[in-house]
Amino acid sequence: MIPLKSQKDLTMLKRSGVILASVMQKLQASLRPGMTTLDIDLLSAELIRKEKALAAFKGYKGFPGSACVSVNEEIVHGVPGPRVILEGDIVSIDLGVNYEGFFSDMAVTLPVGKVETDRLKLIAVAKQSLDIGIKQAQVGNYLTDISHSIQSFVEAQGFSVVRQFVGHGIGTALHEEPEIPNFGRPGLGPLLKSGMVLAIEPMINLGSWECKIIENGWTAVTADGAPSAHFEHTVAVTNKGPVILTKV
Ligand code: MG
Repeated sequence: MIPLKSQKDLTMLKRSGVILASVMQKLQASLRPGMTTLDIDLLSAELIRKEKALAAFKGYKGFPGSACVSVNEEIVHGVPGPRVILEGDIVSIDLGVNYEGFFSDMAVTLPVGKVETDRLKLIAVAKQSLDIGIKQAQVGNYLTDISHSIQSFVEAQGFSVVRQFVGHGIGTALHEEPEIPNFGRPGLGPLLKSGMVLAIEPMINLGSWECKIIENGWTAVTADGAPSAHFEHTVAVTNKGPVILTKV
């Protein structure tokens, strides 16, 4: 059952999303070569605390960080630690906020200093694929219209779509129904209704789509070691079209 949100719920989810987007802006502004992924995590925790909200990932299924920080070949669920961020890296920051019981989820991939052209294109295509997916989050569309639009665009650009991780419903829990794959045939799954709130999150690889989990049990990396990019927004399906909640 996919929960439908009331107008009051959507107002609270928007507050949560605005907090998250403003924290993300500050993290983006402070990203520098020489920082560790733990530095980003600690800063995110402090910024979320200042907004009187909670870091939704902290302790989720035992996750040790407030943020997932995934560098280059790391796709998602990068565990914050001593890894030093270098000029030329691309860094994915995935962050969730719990504001008075209302959850929002967002990810961006950022270039650090001067970055190779193919990595910049990967980031641009990943970002654009999210925009394309969001446009399909319309009342009366099927869920996998989102999935199909993302995969078609990404593969036409010569990149691949991660299969093992998918987007999800969100609201009064971090993960709700439905699962939202970033690949597959259109016209399947539930019809989208006003009041659904979806965390749409394409993960795009420069090489092949296969991935593996490293020894820490969390971090997913590309099987071929090529870079990966990840963008995510929390989006409300409304009668006036999709509304991005994770926006300042
Ligand atoms: Mg998510």
